[in-house]
Amino acid sequence: MALPPLVEPAAELTVDEIRRYSRHLIIPDVGMDGQKRLKNSKVLVVGAGGLGSPALLYLAAAGVGTLGIVDFDTVDESNLQRQIIHGVSDIDRPKAESAAASIAEVNPLVNVVIHNTALDRDNVKELFSQYDLIVDGTDNFATRYMVNDAAVLLGKPYVWGSIYRFDGQASVFWEEHGPCYRCLYPEPPPPGMVPSCAEGGVLGVLCASIGSIQVNEAIKLLTGIGEPLVGRLMVYDALEMEYRKIKVRKDPNCALCGENPTVTDLLEDYEDFCGAVSAEAEEATLNATITARELKDWQDSGKDLFLVDVREPAEWEINRIPGATLIPKGEILSGEALSRFPQDRQIVLHCKSGVRSAEALAAIKAAGFKDAVHLQGGIVSWVNTIDPSQPSY
Ligand SMILES: [Zn+2]
Repeated sequence: MALPPLVEPAAELTVDEIRRYSRHLIIPDVGMDGQKRLKNSKVLVVGAGGLGSPALLYLAAAGVGTLGIVDFDTVDESNLQRQIIHGVSDIDRPKAESAAASIAEVNPLVNVVIHNTALDRDNVKELFSQYDLIVDGTDNFATRYMVNDAAVLLGKPYVWGSIYRFDGQASVFWEEHGPCYRCLYPEPPPPGMVPSCAEGGVLGVLCASIGSIQVNEAIKLLTGIGEPLVGRLMVYDALEMEYRKIKVRKDPNCALCGENPTVTDLLEDYEDFCGAVSAEAEEATLNATITARELKDWQDSGKDLFLVDVREPAEWEINRIPGATLIPKGEILSGEALSRFPQDRQIVLHCKSGVRSAEALAAIKAAGFKDAVHLQGGIVSWVNTIDPSQPSY
């Protein structure tokens, strides 16, 4: 389904612009008309991270006239494996500022608007309404649902992408012409079921594969060329080197864009909707959570601890708390590893940040180990407060 261009053409291109964009201008489908539309376009990229890095660089190079960047985070060394818009000298700098500086180097003709803030229910609609198109490079379900809801409520199209290890997905959601994200995924996954890239990892170059698909779709929508990914989900498997397209239909029962919507405005709390941890885990951690300092004090006092690291072996290779035993969460939830837990020692569980250990704690308590506790903030908190000499990730 071809769609009309999103943006009207700018009046003219300058001599500089004609020189710079000549390889676009000689493609008949883009031509002078398409390049003028790009010049007149306003695109907001949500997140200057894994997907946002290649997306911003290519949108800028392509000549999108106004590029908004919304990101509240600062550049960390562990970002540089994939977030190619940032460099070593940008570490600790706000990502939105760092990205803007790189864009100025690639294409100073682009008007960059920095939104150095967290996207939230109070600013999302106002921000989106200033742009023609949104490119969603967020990495968490709460923001993803909020981006979708705001876009549908405003009637804005957006290009969505997601990445995990070797797998990527992309689509264009535009309520007027096809399904929305909630038609595809009506409910967020149960808390703890889908690890984030911070917990599960991502192949750096996968960001370029999916981010460039997002830019490709953005350019098609802005200039009205080709067949946009509306109503289709692109699924990429980097290990098999396989792209598949799956049809996605508008769901007449969609809570947001269906015939009898139950979601008619932004939700009060998207974190709550997506749930950081399950209800069982939340209950299990009540009065059963210790800090890194408390754990250190227990160790120093010679308390008989059975300290269990519930992360995966690859994470255990990176860092570990002295005295810990590795028993991955899956072996605890399946019951397979329960026989390894002693009845007469203080059980302490930890993971990277405290989410997986909370899930494991619920299973351990259900198995009868009523005094078990977990470490708040996981090994991240341990490294930050007790042992900064260890690497973090
Ligand atoms: Zn929908």
